[in-house]
Amino acid sequence: GDIAQEVQVVIIGGGPGGYVAAIRAAQLGQEVVLIEKEELGGTCLHVGCIPSKALIHAANTATVITKAAELGLFTTAPELDMPKLQAWKHSLVHQLTDGVRTLLRQHGVSVVRGAAFFMSDDRIAVETKRGMEYYRFEQAVIATGSRPLALPGFPFDGEQILSSTDALRLTELPKELLVIGGGYIGLELGTAFAKLGSRVTLVEQSAGLLPGTDPTLVEIVKKKLQSFGVTLLTEAEARAHTIQNGRVHVTVCIGGQEQTVTADKVLVTVGRRPNTAALDLERAGLTVDEKGYLPTDGQGRTANRNIFAIGDITHGPMLAHKASKEGIIAAEAIAGLPSQKDMACLPTVIFTDPEIASAGLTEAEALAQGLDVTSGQFPFAINGRALIKDAGDGVCRVIAERESGVVLGVHLAGPEASTLIGEAALAIEMGATLEDLHLTVHPHPSLSEVLMEAAAVADGVAIHLL
Ligand code: FAD
Repeated sequence: GDIAQEVQVVIIGGGPGGYVAAIRAAQLGQEVVLIEKEELGGTCLHVGCIPSKALIHAANTATVITKAAELGLFTTAPELDMPKLQAWKHSLVHQLTDGVRTLLRQHGVSVVRGAAFFMSDDRIAVETKRGMEYYRFEQAVIATGSRPLALPGFPFDGEQILSSTDALRLTELPKELLVIGGGYIGLELGTAFAKLGSRVTLVEQSAGLLPGTDPTLVEIVKKKLQSFGVTLLTEAEARAHTIQNGRVHVTVCIGGQEQTVTADKVLVTVGRRPNTAALDLERAGLTVDEKGYLPTDGQGRTANRNIFAIGDITHGPMLAHKASKEGIIAAEAIAGLPSQKDMACLPTVIFTDPEIASAGLTEAEALAQGLDVTSGQFPFAINGRALIKDAGDGVCRVIAERESGVVLGVHLAGPEASTLIGEAALAIEMGATLEDLHLTVHPHPSLSEVLMEAAAVADGVAIHLL
């Protein structure tokens, strides 16, 4: 048979989970082989976080230009050159991919290009361009990520029925875009395309958008979406489609009534599924749950002590920073350190307009834990900096334990929420109180004042709000 190379640590998948685990394991003195079948950086860097935020940035810039006349700045209306936009996005992705490659090299990680699968509980095979390669490992980390879930009746064709991956690669702006699925990916991309000039209709099966997100925050985003012309169809089910003369006709069922919505392209964003089916996990003695996720313990260990799983293939939110944190913990556990996951204050961000961000407990979660809570809320509409930025829509809410004032959670919709949540996460991690937040002098005029003010409201000492 073929000779297997002996390695200490094998990592399957080079996304934000796998490459971070590889670097941390190498820092801790492990000999690491990282196997990636496509590109270093994974979904996040190539077809997820970075390209979507690049598109959103371009769309926001178009909006700024369009509104510049209000500021006394006269320009011509922006004209979109989509191939140029794609080239700019690509150069960003390329630069960041180079960075990941360099970091891995500097840490002495061997990168192997190929698709890996298990042969046994201590051996993997890798299908490379040169043929099969075999590795016997002491410990393995599986970080194979996730892929878009298809909707029955709407198989992806890459042309007119698009996944998020396809949508991010469009070189022509669709005149009319139908988005199926009102989760965060659908809303982020739908918003960006609408701002770039597509006529967007969004179909969501449930009664609200962004299921699982605080409805008062969602309401702020919903109003804004409608203000720039997005048509929202909720409690609406996309059932089937036909393609005629290059147009897609989609049958949508709303309250028992069928209607047809026509568009140039349909973007299906109805969820993602973990990439665990092609790994021959049963040969390593591992079984996935009914949705394909690998169960893990607090260090990321699977049922096999020597095999870890991290990122989108494990339970919890599918987020890049969650994958990276799990990667660090798995690498430390492999090196014998006592690191443990603590995701109680994992920040979640939705890059809609305005952004929604959240860390720690919601009021309902705190109450369910039997805690006595107090809360304070401050609107962006009376924050000077937000008004300067034409971004007064939104609110920041701070939740604390009444007696001690210890901050339990922060939830906001507003400009730069993704940045502001960093301070909130630090406060919660450090056990800060409402006083710590509002006694700390925050710079003026800045968006960060809303966090201070919301804490002051909760403590009854607000200056700018009754
Ligand atoms: P991935 O990034 O999916 O990486 C897995 C890697 O494993 C891939 O490169 C794949 O090629 C490789 N692989 C798979 N199978 C094999 C195999 N058998 N052998 C070898 N290699 C293999 N998250 C955020 O935190 N913020 C955001 O703003 C954000 N925006 C997003 C926008 C979109 C449109 C999408 C789709 C996702 C977004 N996400 C965002 C989610 C984020 O991309 C994922 O949570 C993150 O990439 C998960 O990291 P991972 O390492 O688990 O897997």
